[in-house]
Amino acid sequence: MSESPALLAVFGNPIAHSLSPLIHQFFAQQEGRSIIYEKRLVEGAFADCVREFFAQGGVGCNVTVPCKVEAFNFATAKTERARVAQAVNTLSVRHDADGSLSYKGDNTDGFGLLTDLIRLKCPLASARVLIIGAGGATRGIVPSLQFLGSIHNLTIVNRTLAKAEEIVAYIQDFYAANHFSRMLMPMRACDYATLEAQKVTPDTYFDVIINATSLSMREELPPVKDEYYKRARFAYDLFYTPQGKTVFTEHAKSLGIANSYDGLGMLVGQAALAYEQWFGVRPEMEPTIEYMRQVLAQR
Ligand code: NDP
Repeated sequence: MSESPALLAVFGNPIAHSLSPLIHQFFAQQEGRSIIYEKRLVEGAFADCVREFFAQGGVGCNVTVPCKVEAFNFATAKTERARVAQAVNTLSVRHDADGSLSYKGDNTDGFGLLTDLIRLKCPLASARVLIIGAGGATRGIVPSLQFLGSIHNLTIVNRTLAKAEEIVAYIQDFYAANHFSRMLMPMRACDYATLEAQKVTPDTYFDVIINATSLSMREELPPVKDEYYKRARFAYDLFYTPQGKTVFTEHAKSLGIANSYDGLGMLVGQAALAYEQWFGVRPEMEPTIEYMRQVLAQR
């Protein structure tokens, strides 16, 4: 382990709210590693900011809104999950034999969710999954569910139907172009009216319901009828709170889904995978989630 602290950072705009420094400091503390993790506000060109950081000895960085596509373009090598997402949230530097630097881009957002669903023993094998919402977060998580390979089918419902259709079409095109279309999980996009009109039968129920809308922030529920919740076994809200309860998780519980969770574990999961990219060690999730709940409660 190196004596001098490893320099890390998160880039974005805005950036003041980012919890990444706290999460990574906690990971490093658990491992006995010394790091400096900075928040860097991107006001000019992302590539200039990040190049300067690596020239200063940066080991790796996280990238958040609105720089993930620029980070994708900046990376000189990309993981498959970054290529599917067309967005990068983690960069690592490589020192090449000729003395030049190259940059590996990864996207750990979707796999952060997957890591958390596995931790929570979500019944994903042969599951019928409903994702509510089709914003940036859904773009990140659909490829990871596809990667899992065991989903029975996926429905994405959204207020703006075109955005859900776009995600489904994009994934189908990506896999067709890469000759993997035989492995593609059945997917469909629909609007709320279609779900409302549909009878909940053994062919149309969902095992797992994931709320990827921003509605919980405003303490509002997505317009999905109760019958779907009553048949489901697992509910997950990407939004998170200090107590782990959101309006969505509490609604799901009231309709019989005891296994209803918020998204703090997803946040920690994506950070854990980034940390592993940099240091080759996957930090433990549980103590970090516990620590972050305490941090959030004090804010
Ligand atoms: P976006 O703004 O990209 O998408 C918002 C989504 O919410 C869209 O599908 C939008 O529908 C829907 N929505 C907003 N208002 C309404 C409404 N009144 N009625 C119905 N649908 C509505 O946000 P993100 O995808 O980036 O984030 C979504 C959520 O996930 C947020 O709560 C965010 O905090 C959380 N998140 C959590 C992460 C974690 O690590 N736990 C990581 C990333 C996000 P439409 O397309 O029709 O506008």
